[in-house]
Amino acid sequence: MFEHLEKYAGDPIFRLGDEFHQDPRERKVNLTVGLYYDDAGRIPLLRSVQQAEARLGGELRPRPYLPIEGLPAYRSAVQELVFGAGSEAVRAGRVATIQSVGGTGALKVGADFLHAAYPDSHIWISDPGWDNHHAIFQGAGIATHTYAYYDSQGQSLRFERMLEDLRALPRHSFVLLHPCCHNPTGADLSREQWQALIPVLAAGELIPFMDMAYQGFGRGLDEDAGPVRAMADAGLTFLAANSFSKNLSFYAERCGGLSVVCGSADEAERVQGQLKAIVRRIYSNPPMHGGQVTALVMSDPELRALWEDEVAEMRARIAAVRRQAREQLEARLPGYDAGYLTEQQGMFSYTGLSAAQLHALRAEHGVYIIDSGRISVPGLNTRNIDYFTEAMAAVLR
Ligand code: PLP
Repeated sequence: MFEHLEKYAGDPIFRLGDEFHQDPRERKVNLTVGLYYDDAGRIPLLRSVQQAEARLGGELRPRPYLPIEGLPAYRSAVQELVFGAGSEAVRAGRVATIQSVGGTGALKVGADFLHAAYPDSHIWISDPGWDNHHAIFQGAGIATHTYAYYDSQGQSLRFERMLEDLRALPRHSFVLLHPCCHNPTGADLSREQWQALIPVLAAGELIPFMDMAYQGFGRGLDEDAGPVRAMADAGLTFLAANSFSKNLSFYAERCGGLSVVCGSADEAERVQGQLKAIVRRIYSNPPMHGGQVTALVMSDPELRALWEDEVAEMRARIAAVRRQAREQLEARLPGYDAGYLTEQQGMFSYTGLSAAQLHALRAEHGVYIIDSGRISVPGLNTRNIDYFTEAMAAVLR
């Protein structure tokens, strides 16, 4: 019955990660998947999470269904984290928010919601972008297109072209944007560029979808959410997805949020109802454990302060690794400008390496980088950074 179906080729990033694990060489470096590793190469179990779990008293609790939209304390925490404690939109009841199954779940529910609200609209995604954005929106029946974003040869944003592209879109088009730590390039718009972009979105009656998977990994928890808050302050109607996968090191717990900022409390109530209807028919309600831990860490002052310190620690490590990699590369390769490493922020950097150079890194040095040339910076640490920069210098010479 199903023999006509195509074989799933697998996710190219996960596939390359598998290849890395099968590589028998002792000296090898995995810069493929977007996971935060500490300097010892481990995925951290945050102290704030451990303490919250201890307080929640282990596994011996009943497991009723959560509300379709998730835990109330979790949803409030998402609103506060994304929109800020003093948000006018939140206070006015203009924000509909659900607890989502990771950031990916937020994108999926948001995509279904947009398709139902505007069945003829298409979405525009940055070029380059995250492949799964295309897959998620296409899976929801929305055609995907790209807008100019980054010139990988010149290692710079194509902001004027981006504005031009967005100015040309039909009204009610959807526009996928990354408020911080752009995946895959690590290149973000400046505050001034967001201020220039927001009126273009408003004038075109476009519907932005802000995807914030790395809040806290760029300049700070509040700073990284700045573009979302600026958009809310400007009175735009838009969607915002956030994820706790990275900043709570909570990947497998699948904790995220989807918020829709509306023009009025009445509209937000309608939207909240539609989001619930969509959730009900996909997975009915979100999981409990991660939701409770997240809500506790976010709402308890002591755990929250500890968590903020831990996020700051992760952010500082990424920035330090970026500086060190840049210094080493520039020392090894006189004339080579590795400034992109410190100008870009968050988990990823776009190296601009060619297919041949990427292949040589893999084959000759055991350095695994995905085909776009994007590196996941936290894969570097004290023990492998010298080896990595030497390998990179060797293929660039
Ligand atoms: N959006 C972007 C841009 C991402 O890079 C990721 C994760 O890699 C996600 C969303 C999904 O996050 P989650 O793992 O919470 O589903």
